[in-house]
Amino acid sequence: MSATQQVSCQNCGEAIHFTTWQTLNTSTDPDAKTKLINGSLFSCSCPKCGKTMNIIYPVVYHDTEHKMIIMLVIDNEATQDFHGAIENIQSGDAKGKLKNYRFRIVRDINVLREKVIIMNMALDDRFIELVKLVYAIRLKETTPDLQIHQLFFYATNMDDMKIIAYLADGQLSEFAFDEEKYRQFVGVFGEAVDVSPADEYEIDQDWAKTVSQGIL
Ligand SMILES: [Zn+2]
Repeated sequence: MSATQQVSCQNCGEAIHFTTWQTLNTSTDPDAKTKLINGSLFSCSCPKCGKTMNIIYPVVYHDTEHKMIIMLVIDNEATQDFHGAIENIQSGDAKGKLKNYRFRIVRDINVLREKVIIMNMALDDRFIELVKLVYAIRLKETTPDLQIHQLFFYATNMDDMKIIAYLADGQLSEFAFDEEKYRQFVGVFGEAVDVSPADEYEIDQDWAKTVSQGIL
């Protein structure tokens, strides 16, 4: 479900019409999914001066094929409401259509994009967070002073997956891995991931640190 909004150009004030999505269903809105992955879903350009702006808004991303619902949360204060919203979706699912669904809450459009890329490759974001964590630990072991700003997964196919570390000094560091390596992580952490709480909707580095306690 989308709507057209009018925004003013931050540079010249020109009125720009921009499409926002309240819910985005991958089976009915495949183009929007492509735009999410290429970054244009949250970006618009001024037709008059060419200024490009990011426009961030909350969206519920529903992937019917991979059975996942991801809520992009903008307001940090509203965490509890979103947990409640997920519980409402589940309790309102009388026919059990969402029975095997995974639910996620994300707070950043780049994290949403990352989760969609992971899902499209039929990978499990929980193991990807663990790959990131192990890579971050190794980076720190090699260079203790290193400040890691953010870690992102990126891949176009199963033989060419990578974790990109954005460092505080503006540099990048990359860790490349393949499907075999991913399967090794599933083997090592599978049991711990299976017993982790199903109502944990924020799968991030904090989650990975908790789940890997006693293993790493
Ligand atoms: Zn403009």
